[in-house]
Amino acid sequence: MSLPTIDDSYLQDILIDLLNIPSPTGFTEGVITQAEQLMMVYPYLNLSRTRKGALVAEWPGRSEAAPRALTAHADTLGAMVKEIKSNGRLKLTKIGGYAWNTVEGEGCTIFTRNEEEIRGSLLLAKASSHVHGAKVNDLKREDDNMEVRLDARTVSEDATRALGIEVGDFVAFDPRIEINNGFIRSRHLDDKACVASLLSAVKTLHDAGMEPAQKTYLHISNYEEVGHGAAVGIPSNVTELVTVDMAAIGEGQTSDEFHATLCVKDSGGPYHHGLSQRLRELADENNIPYKIDIYPHYGSDGEAYWRAGGDVAVALIGPGVDASHNYERTHMEALVATTQWVVAYLLSEYQ
Ligand SMILES: [Zn+2]
Repeated sequence: MSLPTIDDSYLQDILIDLLNIPSPTGFTEGVITQAEQLMMVYPYLNLSRTRKGALVAEWPGRSEAAPRALTAHADTLGAMVKEIKSNGRLKLTKIGGYAWNTVEGEGCTIFTRNEEEIRGSLLLAKASSHVHGAKVNDLKREDDNMEVRLDARTVSEDATRALGIEVGDFVAFDPRIEINNGFIRSRHLDDKACVASLLSAVKTLHDAGMEPAQKTYLHISNYEEVGHGAAVGIPSNVTELVTVDMAAIGEGQTSDEFHATLCVKDSGGPYHHGLSQRLRELADENNIPYKIDIYPHYGSDGEAYWRAGGDVAVALIGPGVDASHNYERTHMEALVATTQWVVAYLLSEYQ
């Protein structure tokens, strides 16, 4: 039996919508609401929120013998206002693990307490070559040397405070989405690409009039980038958890932008061998283009659940994303392959 067809224009459209909603960890209400609205069209999905704000969809299947869960995270890297400087500019503190040079020169939005959005850009504090000469190249990209230049008339701390900006305001970097020849270039494909894959998998089964083999929970996590996203929110009767998150591409890696990857080991050690083997068999049986890889500097929400005491088999699949936690890129082929894999897993009979 062949897999139902993935609607790749739906997949691309909802991905773009998700990417355009700012959602640094801790500021995810908008993106979680968007995912919720996309799931609300399916009356059989029972939707709820965890108290920390993740979205959980309970999806009845043909059997309740061995409930399953899949998770993907909607939170992204970002920042928070750490200090308002005497020159009216902002010093930031990072949210999540990345290097300042990866967002240097990027546009950003500051979300004030009064729900205003103020635009600016992240720059080196000594940004002009005509003023600072070689320092523009030499200065270390660290918290003290980076600042936000606001697109507002301020050269003092007081004037910036008068805009409504305060310490603790969330800051989101522009995704800067561009699509060419099937390549999708954007920040935060990690992990909105996989949220879009999960939602597309639901639509694929729905359009084909199919339901999952087992009762399945879809968990849209909102604290993954700081390490504890799926630590809660996976019901304890779940027997297996498939984490859907980006694959790391680069020197020494097998992953690429045209395949989905099964990660068998990352910084947290090996994933569940039995579940990984079954996913591999499913990919083989369904001609899904995939790679097997190991990620040297990587942790996932599946491991967050394991560390929190979750007694389930955990595996990790996802599309190859180039330049992860930087200006990322993937290709539709990897997104479709990942979605096919999720669909094959949802339909698979084995407990
Ligand atoms: Zn991720």
